Amino acid sequence: MRVVIIGGGIGGLALALALRREGFEPLVCERAPALLEVGAAIAVWPNAFRVLERLGLGETLLARAGRIRSVRWLGREGREYNHFSFPETGAPAVALHRADLQGALLRALPPESVHLGKTFAGFVEEGEEVRARFEDGAEVACDVLVGADGLHSRVRAQLLDNGGPAYRGYTIWRGVARLEHETLRAGVASEIYGRGRRFGVGPVGLGRTGWWATANEPEAAAESASEHAPKLLRLFEGWCAPVQELIEATPSESILRNAAYDRPAAARWGEERVTLLGDAVHPMTPNLGQGGCVAVEDAAVLARCLAKYKDTHVALRVYESRRRTRAAAVAAYSRRYGAFGQWHTPAMVNLRARLLSSVPESVGHRVLSLVFDYDAYAVAV
Ligand SMILES: Cc1cc2nc3c(=O)[nH]c(=O)nc-3n(C[C@H](O)[C@H](O)[C@H](O)COP(=O)(O)OP(=O)(O)OC[C@H]3O[C@@H](n4cnc5c(N)ncnc54)[C@H](O)[C@@H]3O)c2cc1C
Repeated sequence: MRVVIIGGGIGGLALALALRREGFEPLVCERAPALLEVGAAIAVWPNAFRVLERLGLGETLLARAGRIRSVRWLGREGREYNHFSFPETGAPAVALHRADLQGALLRALPPESVHLGKTFAGFVEEGEEVRARFEDGAEVACDVLVGADGLHSRVRAQLLDNGGPAYRGYTIWRGVARLEHETLRAGVASEIYGRGRRFGVGPVGLGRTGWWATANEPEAAAESASEHAPKLLRLFEGWCAPVQELIEATPSESILRNAAYDRPAAARWGEERVTLLGDAVHPMTPNLGQGGCVAVEDAAVLARCLAKYKDTHVALRVYESRRRTRAAAVAAYSRRYGAFGQWHTPAMVNLRARLLSSVPESVGHRVLSLVFDYDAYAVAV
């Protein structure tokens, strides 16, 4: 079976690897001329680590990642609202530099299976095959076409034609810094809450610390790379350590900035020999750090379905039916958690502090287990 994957992000590469483990020889077509060493920290929660371990990457990732064993919630002045350890789920929670994750996936694939500089333009279905067309005029025929081409997916646009992503009202900045500070604790991730602003901190391995910051803003507010750090220092003035210290320790040009987007859950993910995976079908706001993890789950389930069912249509529709509810639930949870985090009036900020302070560890564990316990290799397909 010839499988063509559009997009060499986390989802596309994870799918290629999962398919190879099932005996397929998929082709990944990625528009970027090189998979660059860009990005910031990415959390790989147990639900995704379990899959990546099964794909043979466990040790490679652990060698470069920071373990996360507990979380703290604080107010901007540094008062701790709550803290709890993560539930035991049989797989670690880690964070690492995105380039390390992307690199590990890429190196596990034969170089000839990833074609760079191939910008997908559209597809046509003809009889028993589908043909992917590229901007350079090339065409590739296949039996299955998977759109893993991210938030602004062209495969999705042709397939579903239902508009663009929805802006959720805030911007996110991310950075990775080398900083020694007495407030940075091994194994601990912190989320610090202010008025319409948040700041998150966690270890990303090899002595590095990853951080993220959010602020309520109109969509598409312009900002150049050199403006990121000075702006963040202003927005987070007076916040507890190590907020200012981390921003100061990060070169402004290396800070990434994204708007918070997602989409309402899609009822249909594919048609005939074409399907979607990852952000192309279920982009989510980054509040739970689960977008990439859920894409990795998709990859495992899709590979298993294609291995199990000879009939391509059956395989793709079973994959979609197994994944829709799960992806929609995590995206909805992420959206709500983000909206709560961005509360900005004094009354709401006080209420949020009381709510966060009153969450018992057992409830925290139950909620996290819903997300972390998912095993994409145990789901019936
Ligand atoms: C601020 C922020 C923080 C986040 N933190 C986390 C986190 O901690 N943990 C986590 O799991 N997730 C996190 N995410 C989400 C995560 O980044 C995405 O969910 C994940 O990258 C989705 O993977 P993907 O492969 O579906 O899409 P992408 O990673 O977007 O990859 C899509 C690929 O397709 C390529 N492409 C696009 N169009 C074409 C075309 N026409 N032809 C060919 N190729 C094309 C792109 O170049 C890209 O390489 C975060 C997101 C943001 C914005």
